[in-house]
Amino acid sequence: MDEIASALISLQELDQILSKQKIRFVKISRVIEQDGGLVKLQSDYDKIKRDNLQFQLNVSKIDSEILEIQTKSSELQEKLYGGSITNMRELTAIEAEYNSLSNIITEKNQERTNALSQVSDTKESMEKMNIDLDQIKNLWREKKKSLLKEKSEIGKRFNSKLKDRNQFIEKIPEDIFKDYNRLFKANNGIAIVTVKRDICQGCLVKLPVGDIDKMKNSSLPVLCNSGKHFLTE
Ligand SMILES: [Zn+2]
Repeated sequence: MDEIASALISLQELDQILSKQKIRFVKISRVIEQDGGLVKLQSDYDKIKRDNLQFQLNVSKIDSEILEIQTKSSELQEKLYGGSITNMRELTAIEAEYNSLSNIITEKNQERTNALSQVSDTKESMEKMNIDLDQIKNLWREKKKSLLKEKSEIGKRFNSKLKDRNQFIEKIPEDIFKDYNRLFKANNGIAIVTVKRDICQGCLVKLPVGDIDKMKNSSLPVLCNSGKHFLTE
């Protein structure tokens, strides 16, 4: 294996480690940013709390509506049985209004029952979520500490390994290095592969004899048929 190919292989091994560390670093950062899922849980909880308040207000509103209708209904009842009505038509009208108010009260009571069950459903959810939130908060406190530590260690290791790249990069011609970077990104961290039994170990395809000859005779690494991998013996 010539010097360039061997520098590429070493660089690739290093870059694979670096990219794993980077993925872990980004993942940890994201978890920390979202406070281990607490941000979402808290916002879900706040939403249910607002709903619960809204349902409570709704119950109060229905209560005052019922009270108002009941007052009106009592007034009508007094009129009906107070003996002040002498006119038959007026009596029928008041009776009709009284019955209609009674129906409205029945409807309002049904509305009230529904609203009350919405209040109790949301209250129950809030209680459950409160228990979850407490548990997760406790767990998260410890977890966050260890994640912050891991994040800072990965950061340090990454930076020191990043410097190690230079010793390989300086042995690789600029054009080849550019292609290497492009292929590494495009092919999930594989830019150069060894050829075993005339097979490109990246594509798992047998290479034409011409390509094998080219690889053996070229002073620079050559690409496989698919153009995805540099080849080395
Ligand atoms: Zn290939």
